[in-house]
Amino acid sequence: MSQKKILLVEDELAIREMMKFAFFKSDYLLLEAEDAEEAQVMITNEQPDLILLDWMLPGISGLELAQRLKRSDSSKEIPIIMLTARGEENDRVRGLDAGADDYVTKPFSPRELMARIKAVLRRVAPDQDGIIELGGIRMDSEKHRLFVEDKPFELGPTEYKLLHFFMTHPERVYNRSQLLDRVWGGDVYIEERTVDVHIRRLRKVLTEYNAEHLIQTVRGAGYRFSIE
Ligand code: CA
Repeated sequence: MSQKKILLVEDELAIREMMKFAFFKSDYLLLEAEDAEEAQVMITNEQPDLILLDWMLPGISGLELAQRLKRSDSSKEIPIIMLTARGEENDRVRGLDAGADDYVTKPFSPRELMARIKAVLRRVAPDQDGIIELGGIRMDSEKHRLFVEDKPFELGPTEYKLLHFFMTHPERVYNRSQLLDRVWGGDVYIEERTVDVHIRRLRKVLTEYNAEHLIQTVRGAGYRFSIE
């Protein structure tokens, strides 16, 4: 398999240096651009597999660049992870609306970012066979089958969707309303405590395979799928 190219668009040298170090040991090839203009040239010439895009860039902002890329046929398929210092819900939504596939708030650990990159690349182009593997769980998203250490197990449809969402969005916290939006869909009215019920059911099944630690409760914030 050829090495995936990741384009980092970031004006802060310190972050570029940190990433260079993190990517040196990874399976990815890191390309860098300091601003939107340089990024456009890189995208045309190199066709990266994924773009890490800083929100606050001099000149054309990351948000604006994301919108442009998603409007253009030649770049709209390239997944984007926004990097931002802002943590506000509004900005998160604006970033996702602009076409970003995921969103990482600074400061982030290289390890967290690597997990996100892997997840986004899998989601966009799952291994030809549609297999997602994380934390000892293997999910065959085409055949809807689940395994822990090669032992098959089953989940109800909602728990399956919940686990699929978590496995494709690892290492980040989602509150109940975000989970309702992303897993159940935005238009249905469901009470937030429904989320707790399904989390409990999911954990109960995972407990049988000693994997319940993967679904973590973050007090006052929500839930997270974490392999740490
Ligand atoms: Ca910046």
